[in-house]
Amino acid sequence: MEIPLAFYQSLRLDDNKSRSRDSSYSNPNVFNFPRFSGYDFSLRRRRWKNPFAKITCSSLVQGLKPKPKLKPEPIREIDQGPKDPVLHDTQISKSAVAICSQIEKLVLCNRLREAFELFEVLEIQGSLRIGISTYDALVEACIRLKSIRCVKRVHGYMLSNGFEPEQFMMNRILMMHVKCRMIRDARRLFDEMPERNLFSYNSIISGFVNFGNYLEAFQLFKMMWEELSDSETHTFAVMLRASAGLGSIEVGKQLHVCALKLGVVDNTFVSCGLIDMYSKCGDVEDARCVFDDMPEKTTVAWNNIIAGYALHGYSEEALRLLYDMRDSSTSLDQFTLSILIRISTRLAKVELTKQAHARLIRSGFESEIVANTALVDFYSKWGRVDTARYVFDKLPRKNIISWNALMGGYANHGRGADAVNLFEKMLAANVGPNHVTFLAVLSACAYSGLSERGWEIFLSMSEVHGIKPRAMHYACMIEILGRDGLLDEAIAFIRRAPLKPTVNMWAALLNACRMHGNLELGRVVAEKLYGMEPEKLGNYVVMYNVYNSMGKTAEAAGVLDTLESKGLRMMPACTWVEVGDQTHSFLSGYKCDSYNEAVKRQIYHKVDELMKEISEYGYSVAENKNLLSDVDVNEEQGVVRYHSEKLAIAYGLVNTPEWNPLQITQNHRICKECHKVVEFISLITGREIVVRDASRFHHFKEGKCSCGGYW
Ligand SMILES: [Zn+2]
Ligand SMILES: [Zn+2]
Repeated sequence: MEIPLAFYQSLRLDDNKSRSRDSSYSNPNVFNFPRFSGYDFSLRRRRWKNPFAKITCSSLVQGLKPKPKLKPEPIREIDQGPKDPVLHDTQISKSAVAICSQIEKLVLCNRLREAFELFEVLEIQGSLRIGISTYDALVEACIRLKSIRCVKRVHGYMLSNGFEPEQFMMNRILMMHVKCRMIRDARRLFDEMPERNLFSYNSIISGFVNFGNYLEAFQLFKMMWEELSDSETHTFAVMLRASAGLGSIEVGKQLHVCALKLGVVDNTFVSCGLIDMYSKCGDVEDARCVFDDMPEKTTVAWNNIIAGYALHGYSEEALRLLYDMRDSSTSLDQFTLSILIRISTRLAKVELTKQAHARLIRSGFESEIVANTALVDFYSKWGRVDTARYVFDKLPRKNIISWNALMGGYANHGRGADAVNLFEKMLAANVGPNHVTFLAVLSACAYSGLSERGWEIFLSMSEVHGIKPRAMHYACMIEILGRDGLLDEAIAFIRRAPLKPTVNMWAALLNACRMHGNLELGRVVAEKLYGMEPEKLGNYVVMYNVYNSMGKTAEAAGVLDTLESKGLRMMPACTWVEVGDQTHSFLSGYKCDSYNEAVKRQIYHKVDELMKEISEYGYSVAENKNLLSDVDVNEEQGVVRYHSEKLAIAYGLVNTPEWNPLQITQNHRICKECHKVVEFISLITGREIVVRDASRFHHFKEGKCSCGGYW
């Protein structure tokens, strides 16, 4: 430890120069205190390594004679030095008492490091009289610094000085260990405590719950119940967190009963804990009951119940509650906003997210990591990767989730080079990638055809970063091989993989067969997939399309028969477009029944107009009837012109301002025909159109799609 120059200035060097080290020790008048086994060694070592060791504190020379074992005593203020020593200088005062009071004042002013530098003087000098208030200040400093080293120093000093703390101080020492995450030492201390009260139990229990060691927390809770037959609201709140962590609703219910019996159930912390526990244990209804019974609903209570609904997929209900919360004039905090953004991500509510974003900025949460990471995720997922980047760059602190979200965004939007750059930037920032990072960057390479870089990164996973590739990473590599047309290599790669091939791996290969029209391999792979997921429609549709595109109508009909015999029916193709904060859905053909006649006429008219316009720019209907759509094949014939995506785009173009990118979502893979049409539309209208289909994102801009024609 470096000692500030100021310390030396108050030490009388010349006093000690002539005195040898050993004689100074042997002189009983100067050092009239025993040498402790634990401290002797370090004291001696310090004497050689540290110039400070050659110096004796002037306060000792003055004849202060500490006794080996002292009962703690309150520090008496002595009038020495400047009036406000803390604020004007940090020189050591001339006696240990002054050092102690100096330490206390430093802690009070939150100058914790300086307090510990001064404490070192006490440590070097060994057993000095220290008052309980100084110990308390040191404990407080440790808690605030959260430094294990400091805890060891202070606790070691207490032990070697024979300090015998009262219960209050014992609890503080216990708390110090808990707060500095020294949970095992804390447990030992706790077990050795002659007397324990609620405070001791609360400290140790919170420690274990924060550590995720819920079972031990429950054992302690039981002990407390038996020993003290009492508990308090804080304990219940903590224990409810433990039951939520365990996912055990039975235990949670028992706690609920205990809380009812003790009459603490109306306490806000307990109620919020109950809501959280019930919703995390999967019982949203009971959570709602507790919430409804709360006389006064706090922001945390609202957050917990909304998060509960969102967690179990009830996004609409969660959104309704969010509106209720806003109307009840409860203030929304950053957690509310991050839940709101996560719900909007799921429901693709662009307008709502924009409002949440504005509110985050207005409320001064611009650099708040959880909500802003949710924003990065939203914008990445819903086609605004540049906005996502903007939010990301503004974040002063980024966690792995923020990096992964943006990288995933680049991957989805076919911006492989950007994703790889971000990956390199992340490594340069010393953030360790995890398997999600690799999935993002590898799929970016796969979507953008960066095969070489993809292989380098894949190999670096285990060799450099020590992460074993999982099946999903293998699926990315199969996609890379498939994109390059290396189907034989892909199948060899699957066979060599050190894991059982998964559905995703075979599906990537089947898609490659479809793109390259490899019927033989396609059939083999499709058979495998039928065996693995007999109920999954998509596989049959892909195979149907492969046959169809090769002109094998009989085989194609065979696939349809198989479908029928399994009782599977294809979903009608549906496309959604968001206009304002409303979402509008469209079915292919002439089925826009939910719209009135005028709107209908306008939509079909717009489609006709667009088709006419793009044909002037060189668009022509392809001869090939390979539509590659994952939808009801009977629908296909005759309604190609009015595919749902075309209707949705026409509606969006008419009803949104020109500068807005269009946001389209659909339940099926976009067909080749529509893909080409949308490319042309983006060219002639100058609009950015983002289509999220069953397979991926298509970001159409100036006549080109981010997928590069492979989807
Ligand atoms: Zn289509
Ligand atoms: Zn595309």
